[in-house]
Amino acid sequence: MIEFQHVTKVYKGGKIAVEDVNVSFEKGEFICFIGTSGSGKTTCMRMINRMNEPTEGKILIDGQDIQSLNPVELRRKIGYVIQSIGLMPHMTIRDNITLVQKLLKVSDEERNKTAEKMIDLVELPREMLDRYPSELSGGQQQRIGVVRALAADQDIILMDEPFGALDPITRDALQDLVKDLQERLGKTIVFVTHDMDEALKLANRIVIMSGGKVIQFGTPDEILRNPANEFVEELIGEDRLLQAKPDATIVGEVALANPITITREHSLQEAIRLMRQKRVDTLLVVDESNHLEGYIDVEVIDRERGSGKSVGEVMNPQVFFVKQSALLRDTLRRILTRGIKYVPVVDEEKRLVGILTRASLVDIVYDVIWGEEETVSGAVESAKEEV
Ligand code: ADP
Ligand code: MG
Repeated sequence: MIEFQHVTKVYKGGKIAVEDVNVSFEKGEFICFIGTSGSGKTTCMRMINRMNEPTEGKILIDGQDIQSLNPVELRRKIGYVIQSIGLMPHMTIRDNITLVQKLLKVSDEERNKTAEKMIDLVELPREMLDRYPSELSGGQQQRIGVVRALAADQDIILMDEPFGALDPITRDALQDLVKDLQERLGKTIVFVTHDMDEALKLANRIVIMSGGKVIQFGTPDEILRNPANEFVEELIGEDRLLQAKPDATIVGEVALANPITITREHSLQEAIRLMRQKRVDTLLVVDESNHLEGYIDVEVIDRERGSGKSVGEVMNPQVFFVKQSALLRDTLRRILTRGIKYVPVVDEEKRLVGILTRASLVDIVYDVIWGEEETVSGAVESAKEEV
């Protein structure tokens, strides 16, 4: 129903705000544009109702090139909600809600009916219809702003960071309200946000923008499963990848990489040789039965190089490890917050069974959460190489 075809917008002065955007939205979809500030979200949105005109390409609504439509007419058919609410201060709430109908010369009786229906929908008292915006709280005003957009019977509603200025609780309530009304009334909503939580909560498809380009377009699930690149991963955030689903997988259930180990009685010369050969900067120190005792790293070896001491004499016994019975998600969180590269995994007797590497984390998360076998075996291979 809304289709961007090779849409580019260059502002006067040469700023390329939007570059070759090709996306199309179905009727009744809740679309979120997300991206950092200046990525072109607002420009994209404002081209839909011709508040901005594309420099190249075209936008179709219901198959019709909007360039061929009268912009004022077009704007009456498309609702618009912005952060600063935009209620008319000298008009009552009733008149504010039915502003568009008034422009369209709908009868007073009809308008009253609409106003009452809408204020009921957002669960505000009908008495409020005769008040003025300044008599309402910010959250209530924004509710009215949302309702006004929905009241006009427009099929498409554009919302540009409408809840950005609200406190988290009001914001959450309004998100629920908009989502619910959108589903019940079958509206198509195009919503701009820079908040991934908001996008994941509201959207059935998300357009991710960066530097004027569409980086990824898909359902929240597709984006969480297969972020197109590091930028998207960052936008999603490690935390969210971990929290995507509560999961009871334990560390011992995932494929671990092979650790490179050494025993105490070896000389530092031998340790250096092993490190070079295996291309690692840390060795785990174990006893004959593979119990984890500590680690040595290049710094220590550098310092003690000529001392003639053994691995056991210079090793650091303070080694962070996890049991294989630990919950994987807790372990991942610890690794991420500590910023360490890998963690040794031990059994109940503290015997070393493998290591979990930071590099393989994201892929392991995908595997345990979404069951993609392929990714995990690949991840383990690369983890092996790294350690
Ligand atoms: P977003 O909504 O993602 O923050 P915008 O669409 O508002 O991004 O802006 C995209 C880019 O275009 C930014 O670099 C912005 O500075 C620039 N821009 C926006 N509006 C104008 C304008 N009227 N004139 C010149 N440059 C603009
Ligand atoms: Mg913007």
